[in-house]
Amino acid sequence: IPEKDRRWAWLEIDLNAIRHNASAVKKMIGSGRHMMAVVKADAYGHGAVRVAKTALNSGADYLGVATVDEGIQLREGLVNAPILMLAEPPASAIPLLLAYKIMPAVYSSEFAIKYAEAADSMGLRAPFHLAVNTGMNRIGVRWDEVVTFMHQVGFHRALELEGVFTHFATADCPETLDFQIQAKRYIEAIEALRAAGINPGIVHCANSAAAIRYPDVRFDMVRLGIGLYGYQPCPETTPLIELKPAMSVHARITDTRLVPMSEGVSYGLNYRSPGSVKICTVPVGYGDGLRRGLSGRTDFLVDGVRCRQVGNICMDQCMFEVDLRSYARRRRIDPQVGDEVLIVGQQGDAMVTIEEMCDTLGTIPHELCIAFAHRMPRYYV
Ligand code: PLP
Repeated sequence: IPEKDRRWAWLEIDLNAIRHNASAVKKMIGSGRHMMAVVKADAYGHGAVRVAKTALNSGADYLGVATVDEGIQLREGLVNAPILMLAEPPASAIPLLLAYKIMPAVYSSEFAIKYAEAADSMGLRAPFHLAVNTGMNRIGVRWDEVVTFMHQVGFHRALELEGVFTHFATADCPETLDFQIQAKRYIEAIEALRAAGINPGIVHCANSAAAIRYPDVRFDMVRLGIGLYGYQPCPETTPLIELKPAMSVHARITDTRLVPMSEGVSYGLNYRSPGSVKICTVPVGYGDGLRRGLSGRTDFLVDGVRCRQVGNICMDQCMFEVDLRSYARRRRIDPQVGDEVLIVGQQGDAMVTIEEMCDTLGTIPHELCIAFAHRMPRYYV
């Protein structure tokens, strides 16, 4: 039985949108620069191998992952592009890095030396990118200690510094002073390496927000994450590039009922019907990433009509209310079991966006996309 007929809830991933976003950013940064597609966390829930291949055909030439297993998944999916793991794995994973050609970010001398020795013993090179902490205080060697660090580890003949990178804490914030401080420290680190006769290789620091908003920090490569999936990385400022969201969230109605005035709906019965209303159920809940905090605070689309979700969102199901007068006015038959419901996406002129859910919840699209991908089957269109 096809997956679509087993459960009436699914995600659609529009690979044309991924192509559009990758090409638009590539055009913006210019052809002389590398572009890394950040496909960690299963490509932010969009499917790592499909997205990686699409991005590589649309201007990307590097891939970024967060874990060794994410790198292995790409290699097993027959992806050949260079893969950078954006953090240092436990030293016990070094044989896997070498076997699958996954480059690590490096920031501890113990790891660097073990990595070099393992590579050397197999007659291999040990390429890495040096992570620099310029102020985010997450990972990396302090910006004013990079030369000392390289002298500590650089004597090992197998080690090959392929790049030097940092990550901004505030590239997506309207305020820019902290951003400028980090950028300045990063440039100081690169200059110090060069002054010490160390070639930093690929110089990269820009995530989507920095790549789009700050041309001066694009350097040799940008690391495109959220922009690849179609979300404006700094929603508070005027968009500088047109991006198309690739993910939409779909369901079908599994049950309907007329609920008399002042009866409650769902756990807690917090919602009380204001009159005789039609309530429809869809098989999507917080177990699928539709966060419970959205209860009563988001709309679904049916036939291009916005319908308010009502009652607490359950783990596997939730309900929405149909305004029967609006259907009568449009001379349409009101929603029935089996009708398609859009939880995120566009139907005609009507739209429900991940961004509006983020505004309601006080979060970012990164988190919501990944949450939806948790249990929903994905179809590529
Ligand atoms: N670079 C690094 C080191 C990251 O950790 C991330 C994501 O968190 C990115 C780039 C991509 O960031 P964004 O999704 O905001 O473009």
